[in-house]
Amino acid sequence: MIEAGTQTARPDRGSRDHRRPVEGLSQPELSAWLDARGLPAYRADQIRRWLFRKRATSFEGMTDLSGALRQALAGEFVVGSLAMQQCLESRDGSVKYLFRLGDGSVVETVYIPEADRVTLCLSTQVGCGLGCVFCATARMGLKRNLTQAEIVDQVLEVQRRGPEGTRISNLVFMGMGEPLANYDATRGALDVITDARSGMGISPRKITVSTAGLLPQMRRLMEETRVNLAISLHSVRDAVRSELMPVNRKYSVAQLLECCRSLPVPRRKRITFEYLLISGLNDLAADAAELAGKLRGIRCKVNLIPFNPHEGSGYRRPPDPAIERFGETLRARGVQVNVRRPRGDDIQAACGQLYHAADTSAA
Ligand code: SF4
Repeated sequence: MIEAGTQTARPDRGSRDHRRPVEGLSQPELSAWLDARGLPAYRADQIRRWLFRKRATSFEGMTDLSGALRQALAGEFVVGSLAMQQCLESRDGSVKYLFRLGDGSVVETVYIPEADRVTLCLSTQVGCGLGCVFCATARMGLKRNLTQAEIVDQVLEVQRRGPEGTRISNLVFMGMGEPLANYDATRGALDVITDARSGMGISPRKITVSTAGLLPQMRRLMEETRVNLAISLHSVRDAVRSELMPVNRKYSVAQLLECCRSLPVPRRKRITFEYLLISGLNDLAADAAELAGKLRGIRCKVNLIPFNPHEGSGYRRPPDPAIERFGETLRARGVQVNVRRPRGDDIQAACGQLYHAADTSAA
């Protein structure tokens, strides 16, 4: 692990500053704000392009706006809601950013460069309330939801910090928290991120939202957006899945798979099932055969994730031949399978490892 940087992005504003981050406003909200001041609505797109395309960090830099408008904006809004606290670079090139929020909480964002893409893994909550036993974030409990601005700013801050022209090509909502338990902010952030006119213009095809399986919100997301859906499955046996993921006591495996069968998944798209392979628990060839049987009729692929051991987890990663055998058993039954290579595991940035114990102490 290399400690690549420890710094504050911008000064803390102090508790009496009640200005809101402007990135948290939707296009209609910003237009309405302008309209109330007798200003033309097209200015909203202009401001948004400065924020989301030109990476502006202040209103003063928005040089094609009048001085009066810049001043009015600065009187009510700020640019940015995060301060970078620390940045850790992994041997494999992944970078984990620790961002401090206005209330002193800390969230993590992971930058993952690969040959053909640059992926950013975003957080949507401080901690998480779903209590999956294999997950380090779960140990924090749920502290609070992130706002729309705090989700969007993770992308903007990483872009600003990279070399000129750094482009994030793919986004995965797989960091701290359950995105669909914070539906409105996640949905609002997706609107900004995918808006091709004045938002970031990242294609929904390049975005994956991962869920533990909150069925009503899954359906809503698939009806309202065109992003990819990934579901943490980990077992098709209720006893095992409930042990790993308490949410299974609310929505059983049968209910989850039934819901998947009826989701409006666009043609040529597949639901991704994430399957954490844990030695002795769900990694036998018989488990793979049962999984393949239960997934029949669902257009899907399976990502196998060998467990990343972390302190206090009590689970082990299966040996490589067992991982191999599991994948082969699925493939032989016609299931599309990828085995995920852990990235950033030396900086505790791999799946299920995001945890920041000092979440409120750093203000
Ligand atoms: S795995 Fe995801 S849903 Fe489960 S506790 Fe961790 S962050 Fe929450």
